[in-house]
Amino acid sequence: MKQLIDPFGRKIEYLRISVTDRCDLRCSYCMSEDVEFLPRQDILSFEEIIRLAKSFALLGVTKIRITGGEPLMRKKLPELIASIKAIEGIEEVVITTNGTLLTQYAKPLFEAGLSRLNISLDTLQADRFKTLTRRDRLQAVLDGIEEAKKYPFESIKLNAVVMRGMNDDEIIPLADFAIANDIDITFIEEMPLGEVGYDRSVTFLSSAEIKSEIEKKYSLESSSYKTGGPAVYCNVENQKTKIGFISPHSNNFCSDCNRVRITAVGRLLLCLGNENSQDLRTTLRAGCSDEDLTEQLISALQLKPEKHNFDLGEEVKILRFMSHTGG
Ligand code: SAM
Ligand code: SF4
Repeated sequence: MKQLIDPFGRKIEYLRISVTDRCDLRCSYCMSEDVEFLPRQDILSFEEIIRLAKSFALLGVTKIRITGGEPLMRKKLPELIASIKAIEGIEEVVITTNGTLLTQYAKPLFEAGLSRLNISLDTLQADRFKTLTRRDRLQAVLDGIEEAKKYPFESIKLNAVVMRGMNDDEIIPLADFAIANDIDITFIEEMPLGEVGYDRSVTFLSSAEIKSEIEKKYSLESSSYKTGGPAVYCNVENQKTKIGFISPHSNNFCSDCNRVRITAVGRLLLCLGNENSQDLRTTLRAGCSDEDLTEQLISALQLKPEKHNFDLGEEVKILRFMSHTGG
């Protein structure tokens, strides 16, 4: 079987697909208030996404994460998830969502075969949520989490980006919330993607600082638990909850990178912190054969850089926002 192996010997088994650039929130670290969304015809159709997923599955990809923008803004998403889940070789379909639409979609997502849900939540304070996301939707997210808990997903995990002076006083309350709900939580160092109007070197907080804050209340021990992503987990003494840390700055995780991304417009992105990419949409729309598509994916892998290069200096090097990339 042909496989996706990059020049550094890393095997790609995990694909993240952004299904839309649209979102019902405007998180300040992710997009600007006056963001212009792409014309619909530029976005990959479900048929195009499924065709790509099949090609990747034939090359050894077993896990697909659906993301965005806000993936649940894409109409009939559960149908897409069921189609991807049915592809031979795909073992897991998971999603990253802001949670605002889960009261409506948790059940159809579960029935479609979704294995795991990551729900982004950076604050439990309604006013702060409104400031951070520019929308008054905290209660919708909390209701969405409650709804998701009714279904036996393999896991429900919270993702919190921690920023000094913005929400770092909520590290313990967010951990408390995850523990009270028997769900996992991952704390993420902010990445310098896109120009956001504040200096990210001031708001940056390392995973080590976040961890030592949590240890003021909880006893953590290292865990070998892995979900195929970059998070490093700890067990919390006497609790079911695992606490994870994603440290793009302080602990470069590139050496065991196993993933690539497809943006909403069908660009294959080889690394989050680098602009190396290939336009797959043009290939698809030119009516390529399955063999040509496979060959293009294999040769594109040669563009995968050894590691990302995030720099918190004043000059923003990566101009694309996470919402364009697919988090
Ligand atoms: N809308 C969905 C959501 O918010 O979960 C999915 C897409 S969002 C781009 C995926 C993840 O990227 C979210 O957890 C978000 O917090 C994170 N994210 C966005 N911009 C980021 C940045 N500059 N640094 C670190 N994480 C970021
Ligand atoms: Fe939307 Fe997710 Fe970006 Fe927030 S992080 S603006 S919810 S895409």
